[in-house]
Amino acid sequence: MIELLSEDRCISCNQCVKVCPTNVFEATEDGVPVIARQSDCQTCFMCELYCPVDALYVTPFAEQAVAVLEKDVEERGLLGSYRSSFDWNKRKKAEKASEDKPLMKL
Ligand code: SF4
Ligand code: SF4
Repeated sequence: MIELLSEDRCISCNQCVKVCPTNVFEATEDGVPVIARQSDCQTCFMCELYCPVDALYVTPFAEQAVAVLEKDVEERGLLGSYRSSFDWNKRKKAEKASEDKPLMKL
């Protein structure tokens, strides 16, 4: 379940608002979205994957919220950890390269 959005890291790109399939986040006037409907989270990790600055932390516990402190999560290197473990940046670059240079011309 989504547990944390770091306001210090957030660059207000609203990617999390756009990719969340269950509309958990709410865009705000000051730019930093809020976790408005935490209980609707499906623990799909899409927001963590798409956040470009690792400002989000989703726990693997889908059924219940777990209180976390940003300092602890940061110290343990957990912000954006799903994105890192998935090597998402490398995959996105590889996808872009294959789009630029298709294996065969259609
Ligand atoms: S983990 Fe999935 S459902 Fe939960 S807030 Fe992120 S994008 Fe939305
Ligand atoms: S995707 Fe990350 S940087 Fe962008 S608005 Fe959401 S939390 Fe902030």
